Amino acid sequence: MHVKFWGVRGSIAVSGAAFARTGGNTTCVEVTHAGHRLILDGGTGLRALGAAHGFAPMRAHLLFTHLHWDHIQGVPFFTPALHPDSALTFVGPQRDTGSLQEALAVQMRPPQFPITLDRLVGARTFRDVRLDRPFDVGPFKVTPLDQQHPDGVVVYRIEAGGKALLFATDTEHGGGRDRRFLALAEGVDLLVQDAQYTWAEYSGESGPGRAGWGHSAWEEAVALAQAAQVKRLALFHHDPTRDDAGVDSLESLARLEFPRTFAAREGMGVAL
Ligand SMILES: [Zn+2]
Ligand SMILES: [Zn+2]
Repeated sequence: MHVKFWGVRGSIAVSGAAFARTGGNTTCVEVTHAGHRLILDGGTGLRALGAAHGFAPMRAHLLFTHLHWDHIQGVPFFTPALHPDSALTFVGPQRDTGSLQEALAVQMRPPQFPITLDRLVGARTFRDVRLDRPFDVGPFKVTPLDQQHPDGVVVYRIEAGGKALLFATDTEHGGGRDRRFLALAEGVDLLVQDAQYTWAEYSGESGPGRAGWGHSAWEEAVALAQAAQVKRLALFHHDPTRDDAGVDSLESLARLEFPRTFAAREGMGVAL
């Protein structure tokens, strides 16, 4: 499997020189294996992925963790979805608030946006998945797990070619250890973990307390990586206030505890 980060920012996209090395686009990660493409979340990073591909047919599955803005705002600007020969399958968790297709349609209708979802002719299939069992997406075996986050979030363990990735964005661990999470993370080649805050920020020692906002601190990411004996840890979903120097600092601190840590940065590729 090959993993590429197109958007690593949390909550809202940012721009400016102070954020240039980390990148300002929100969540989007591309996973490829044996000629198959899986796209995790459709934040503004999805626009960049589409722009790099150009107006050309694309065959891919897009897998959503949840439907907050910073995970779907790239969808209306995803150029390959406008191509009539594209074959895109949108996959997401089934929720009481409606189907994946309905939820994505909400952000694409007047007065919020002039182009409706049905104009994305390359988006052929919308699939709601049940959260209590593994499923296949192309050549990838996907195991979902519900985690703590406002309006819900799903983390996905993705396996292909004998390698495993756990994509765990927008998860609030609250200082606790979820045994089901640790079991799912056990020994993965790469854990991509929400590390939006420092523990001082989360607990309110620095600024407003962030408990209940749906995210984790880098200290928790490190503790989870150690407990699950993962091979590598990517700190992910960087806070919009965290500039490049801030991300560098968190990365250095985390490496002291878990040397096989890196901060996810836009454009970075990782071979598993
Ligand atoms: Zn988010
Ligand atoms: Zn969220």
